[in-house]
Amino acid sequence: MPAPILLYHQIDIPPSRRTPFRSMVVHPHAFRNQMLWLKRLGYRGLSLREAMPYIRGERTGKVAAITFDDGFLNVFENALPVLRELGFTATGFFVVSQIGGSNEWDRVIGVPEARCMSAAQLREWAALGNEVGSHTLDHVHLPEQPADEARRQIVRSRGMLEDILGEEVLSFSYPYGQEGERCRRMVREAGYRYATTTRRGSAGPGDDVFGLPRATVRRNDTWLHFLKKCLAGYSSAPASMD
Ligand SMILES: [Zn+2]
Repeated sequence: MPAPILLYHQIDIPPSRRTPFRSMVVHPHAFRNQMLWLKRLGYRGLSLREAMPYIRGERTGKVAAITFDDGFLNVFENALPVLRELGFTATGFFVVSQIGGSNEWDRVIGVPEARCMSAAQLREWAALGNEVGSHTLDHVHLPEQPADEARRQIVRSRGMLEDILGEEVLSFSYPYGQEGERCRRMVREAGYRYATTTRRGSAGPGDDVFGLPRATVRRNDTWLHFLKKCLAGYSSAPASMD
């Protein structure tokens, strides 16, 4: 049965109107309600690592993978307590050069500053059963990079995360959802087991594990939008620039 892989960025009070990418900031109350909905609908919210056997069709069960791109501190502060309360786990994809820093990569387009988790918070995130994945070193547009630099972003970020965690890092998320044949190959060769895009859809056994589709949850999604994103067979549509 295909499983939804939900994609969140920030869980916080949304910034003022006309702020770029405001739709990527989901209010903590909305996030809590969405997780309660999942539970009520009989879903188990799991990290990508734990959800993969279901996505591959090796196990059956009603699961939704929960992922957070960028490694924001507000996810640690506002989402983690909800996940713990409901017995859910999730995957965080970290911008490794900004661990303990902020969303520098977003600032050039006018996104307000938001802090990223520190190494200690990342370790706590993992110690509580959540997964740590890579989102490159610097949140670069991978297809635009020379091969050496793209490989460095993919390989080095994994090594640094493994040094912080003391365990293997299996998952990767392409910044801006931008990827292609070359990126997928580099990610596979670097030792990751699976990677997520921003292509819309539910993930199933027919998907390339290095190009898994996700469902982006946005600030103004109604519960009906959310429900649709959770339902298996959520229709495919062109990739968005998240
Ligand atoms: Zn990102």
